[in-house]
Order: sequence, then structure tokens, then C-alpha cells
Amino acid sequence: MKLTFWGTRGSIPVPGPDTVRYGGNTTCLELELAEGQKVIVDAGSGIRPLGRALCRAAPEGELFLLVTHLHWDHILGFLFFEPAFKPGWRIQVAGWPLALKGLRNIFDSRRSDGHFPVMWDDLPGRVEAAAGLEAPRFRLGQTEVSTVPLNHPQGGVGFRFQEGDTALVFITDNELGADSPRSFQDYVRFCRGAQVLIHDTQYLPQESAGRRGWGHSDWGQALELARRAEVPRLVLFHHDPARTDQEMDLLLAEARRAAGREVVVDAAQEGMVIEL
Ligand SMILES: [Zn+2]
Ligand SMILES: [Zn+2]
Repeated sequence: MKLTFWGTRGSIPVPGPDTVRYGGNTTCLELELAEGQKVIVDAGSGIRPLGRALCRAAPEGELFLLVTHLHWDHILGFLFFEPAFKPGWRIQVAGWPLALKGLRNIFDSRRSDGHFPVMWDDLPGRVEAAAGLEAPRFRLGQTEVSTVPLNHPQGGVGFRFQEGDTALVFITDNELGADSPRSFQDYVRFCRGAQVLIHDTQYLPQESAGRRGWGHSDWGQALELARRAEVPRLVLFHHDPARTDQEMDLLLAEARRAAGREVVVDAAQEGMVIEL
């Protein structure tokens, strides 16, 4: 499978000179599976440039959109996702059970609130629930997809993509150590045997004590998870919107020092590709 990061930031898009290298767009991943299916995880602002690239490459197509949860930073880009505005495209939505309802509501809450000029029912693209792809576990061709609940306000799900012996885990907006609804050990079990773990690391270890209950983790907790689950590669993700590129460099250097040779640590950047 081939993964491309289109949005790496948490909370709110932060374009500008301080976020050029790690990126200012919010969560969006593109995943090409072994059999060629196109999967998109989350519709943060990074899905807008992805949609443009998809429509430039082909006049029509089929996509799977897996949504982790409905916080704004994970769905706001869908309003400007070009395939939804083109009649040749079909977008099948799965993941968090309320995903389709949540996407519909950002277009059209039926209360004449004036948030957006286009109504959901007028979208030329086909956007619909993905039949048979229900959590906690489903298959997309040869790829087995499993989900894990998040420790996060209003809930959500993380994903594991397994192709034979190869597995990639993506867990964002998750507070490790919050123990509700899942314990640290539950996440260790979910990640075990994966080659790559991408995890929420919005905070520095010294910041997270004052932010309990906010639903995010620090890099120290994510590194501990990678170690205990014996995952050899960790990718830091959902960067704090206030973190500049320079501060991200320092955070990454510190995490790499702490990891030693045991775990290879990277920080997600827009445009970064991982092939497994
Ligand atoms: Zn988020
Ligand atoms: Zn969230």
C-alpha cells in the first residue's frame, strides 16, 4: 500500500510562512491499496488539493472515504472536495458510524442557516454510505480494515490496514492513558505487528499534564505505544496549530533522541509518502 499525507495539522488550518515544511492543512491521508482501490482517511482541509489532483488525473472514479470522527478539522475540506461536485465520481463513506450524517450537516442543516450555498442533495457526485463496510472490521478487496475506539471527546475511530503480513495503523485525536473507553494496553494490542504507526502527538510531554481530557497525546506517549507494540516506525501526526516548523524540528529531534535505535521516528509533512 502507498500512503500520501495531504493534511498533517490538528485543530485548524494554519497556512503561512511558519508552517511551510510540515504543512498547514488539517487531517487528510490518501491510501492506495494493493489492488488499486483509492482510500481517503478524513476530509480535513488537505482533501481540497487532493480532490483537485484526482480530478486532474481522471474525469471520473470511485473513492472510499473513511472518517475518524466529526470534529471540524476532520471534515471541513469536504465542502471544497472537487469529486463531490463532478457527476462521474462515486464516494463511499465509512468509518465513524455518524460520518455520512455529519458530512451532510455541514452542507445543509435544513435550518436556512446560510453556512454554505450548495445543498447536499444538489451535489453532482454520488456520495453514499459504503454498503458492507461497517466497523469494527471489514474488507476492501484483499485489505483487512479494523477499527479501534478513540479516547476523545464525542468519540471516533482509529484504523488498521492489513495486507498479508504488512500493516499500517493510523490513530489520531486519541488521548493515550485516558483509559476510557480503551486502555493503553488495548492500543498496544491493536498496533502489535504493524510496520508503521501514525499517531496523534499534538503535545510535548511537558504540555500534556495541563491538557487532560482534551483527547490528544504527546510524543512520549506515542513512542511508548510504538515500543510496547514493537512497531519499528512511528510517524508523529496532528501537529499543534501553534507549532512552527522550527519548533517541530526541535520536537522531532527530541523524540528521535528518546527513541534511540529502537524506533525510527518521523514527523508527518504534507506530501510525504510511505510505501509498504
Ligand atoms: Zn483533530
Ligand atoms: Zn477531534
